[in-house]
Amino acid sequence: MKKAKPIWTNILYFSITSAITLIAVPIYGWFVGFDLQQVLIMVLLLGFAGMSITMGYHRLWSHRAFEAHPAVRFILAIGGALAVQNSILHWSSDHREHHKHVDDDTKDPYSAKRGFWYSHIGWMLREYHPDRYYDYANVKDLQKDPIVVWQHRHYWALAWGVNFAITGALGLIHGDLLGTLLLAGVARLTLSQHITFFINSLAHIWGRQPYSHQNSSRDNALIAFLTYGEGYHNFHHRFASDYRNGIRWWQFDPTKWAIRLLSLMGLAKNLRRFADERIERAKASLQLNDAKTRFESFPDAERFIALLQSEYDLLLQRMSEFYATKKALLENKRLTTQYPDPAELMRRYAEVKAGWRRQRRLWKLLVALPAPG
Ligand SMILES: [Zn+2]
Ligand SMILES: [Zn+2]
Repeated sequence: MKKAKPIWTNILYFSITSAITLIAVPIYGWFVGFDLQQVLIMVLLLGFAGMSITMGYHRLWSHRAFEAHPAVRFILAIGGALAVQNSILHWSSDHREHHKHVDDDTKDPYSAKRGFWYSHIGWMLREYHPDRYYDYANVKDLQKDPIVVWQHRHYWALAWGVNFAITGALGLIHGDLLGTLLLAGVARLTLSQHITFFINSLAHIWGRQPYSHQNSSRDNALIAFLTYGEGYHNFHHRFASDYRNGIRWWQFDPTKWAIRLLSLMGLAKNLRRFADERIERAKASLQLNDAKTRFESFPDAERFIALLQSEYDLLLQRMSEFYATKKALLENKRLTTQYPDPAELMRRYAEVKAGWRRQRRLWKLLVALPAPG
């Protein structure tokens, strides 16, 4: 098979920025040194560029997981230019292809099935999809957003402009222009890009799959920590339009927290989230299938599988009792019809909650049974 044509501008760009980061920055640090302020500038810009990608490019534009005030969209478009990951339109078009054809070597732009290097950075170094020209047919909705169109039209001028203007201005204020450009400019850019690239590579290779085995995506708390919450990638591929990636309150997902904060401030609305019950069901059904497969090697497989199925049915029953009662509790108007007595409803709620928890505990033990031998 003929090798794909190299994309020299990208190869040159990555080579130069990597070389500066790995060679020039440490040399400068050794002979001249960086101070705490420069490190803080770097961390701030890293967070701004990174969250503009995760919150803006990814959850807002690619997945339409919420709506944002134009001021927020403008700031995210600027932060996206600072991250140098191409325009919102281009990025979202690629990302929607990724979700639609995930792991398909010919259609997923950064298919993890082609290995770590390819999904991380290799896909940008050669013309792997020469016949795929960008007509942006899959992002027609985004072309109605004037901020997206404006950013796309002036993308490269913006990317160079904001990188030099923001980093340069901060460097001038600081006093050490060159050092700030090196650390908060180039090294920050390299780091910021690899952090995003990890979501395409590592988050499809390393971690657990609690929600789906349909594709290679994985949940990994460590990757979530590095990527502003995007490491809960198995959940994300299963429930892509949910504004959250880490759904539990303790799961590290600063992008989710920031979106929620914006909504409290009136700057974001219509935050989309899947119902807890639907998410729980997806998880339980996967556990059932996994355990069934594992139980097949048990000496008394049929009996085990029958037991598993009946406990699963009971789990679903307890689950829907719990969520239905919770809903009744939240919707005050139903108090009068179905449960005329509020105290009675509270008692019922405590009862079904305990019932569900009990069954869930038992279920967890059951699906964790190790195969014999
Ligand atoms: Zn993915
Ligand atoms: Zn996505």
